[in-house]
Amino acid sequence: GLRIIPRDEHSISRRSFSDGALKVLYRLHNAGFDAYLVGGCLRDALLGRIPKDFDVATNATPEELRDLFRNSRIIGRRFRIVHVRFGREIIEVTTFRGRPGDDHGEHLAQQSEHGLLLRDNVWGNIEEDALRRDFTVNALYYNIADFSLHDWANGVRDIESRTLRLIGDPATRYREDPVRMLRAVRFAAKLDFTIAPASEAPIAELAPLLLQIPPARLFEEVLKLFLCGDAVATFHRLRDYGLFAMLFPEAQEAMDELPWAEPLFLEALTSTDTRIRQERPVTPAFLFAALLWPGVHLRTQKLLADGMPPIPAQQTAAQQAVSRQLQHISIPKRFSLPMRDIWDLQQRLPKRRGKRAFLTREHPRFRAAYDFLLLREAAGEIPPGLGDWWTAFQEGDEHQQRRLLGKVD
Ligand code: ATP
Ligand code: MG
Repeated sequence: GLRIIPRDEHSISRRSFSDGALKVLYRLHNAGFDAYLVGGCLRDALLGRIPKDFDVATNATPEELRDLFRNSRIIGRRFRIVHVRFGREIIEVTTFRGRPGDDHGEHLAQQSEHGLLLRDNVWGNIEEDALRRDFTVNALYYNIADFSLHDWANGVRDIESRTLRLIGDPATRYREDPVRMLRAVRFAAKLDFTIAPASEAPIAELAPLLLQIPPARLFEEVLKLFLCGDAVATFHRLRDYGLFAMLFPEAQEAMDELPWAEPLFLEALTSTDTRIRQERPVTPAFLFAALLWPGVHLRTQKLLADGMPPIPAQQTAAQQAVSRQLQHISIPKRFSLPMRDIWDLQQRLPKRRGKRAFLTREHPRFRAAYDFLLLREAAGEIPPGLGDWWTAFQEGDEHQQRRLLGKVD
């Protein structure tokens, strides 16, 4: 049941919240609506982490929100929410949701025969809204009217014991939305929480339900999984639960056949984590290039054995591997094109005679391709050497570059 923690009995202060979030809360409050901060930002604040974005829950409908905030737009179909923009910050505002089976409010929830929630736009009250959230630690609400914290599912207790626990019957909740299995893994890895045994138990068996999820949604989710700063921990857990195979089936198979496949993934994920911690940019193209590369390699080997020359063999293999992957996870062109370039350049990097090294050096994707080569060497796919040569070539002056080219046979 609900436990209301008054302002002087919890550690959350308005200073933890962004100006944008506070503006949204106060404008809603002043217009007579209920307004609460909810979810991840409270969980993070209680854990002493800096919240990265803010979600607001209210009894105002999307249309009422549109009227209240000029800088807003309604997004999503499966789950309609309103984005309110303040400069670069976006506050996500959702209207309280009711239970999907309920008959009041708008008839906007739809469920498939397997229990999958196709739409979830039935408005409800705050209690219903709280109980349809995924984890107990995400069902905390901060009331701007009196600064109290509303804990609907013992979330504070679970934060204290670092437990990730699904609200309600775990199997039912995963069937409603299988992406919750990925969220469980992501939060557990990121927060270093333990998944409660009952919430953990059904995952391995229900993992194949992820195959029902639209590839575009999985793409968004995979980015969150691997760009959370704890990609290595996330990867291990995804594998343990049989979830990784549902996302990247060929990468999973390749790990059984190629001794360097897993080291390659771990190298790529480690360098992603490092870059994120240093607040340096990461491109999903590089990550996908690594995750799909062993599959490309295996397919290339097959085509070579059939007598196809190396360049078309790898291009055909790349084409096949990508289209197979797209059945599971969509990869927007802005990432798949650079990914293909990174792969193509792997065949050009060994060829350095004449002007070739200089031309390759000028390629817009050279730097990523060079990093990828180092990854392959570190993983033991290819012997070291070429990477060092390119390091020296980039750092050298004209004279040193000519000497390096003299060493190429
Ligand atoms: P973070 O933003 O740090 O990834 P978060 O908990 O804020 O974590 P969001 O994806 O921003 O996660 O979602 C906001 C809130 O919406 C969550 O805290 C949760 O209460 C609810 N929510 C999100 N996705 C689901 C889902 N698939 N099923 C049920 N509730 C969800
Ligand atoms: Mg959030």
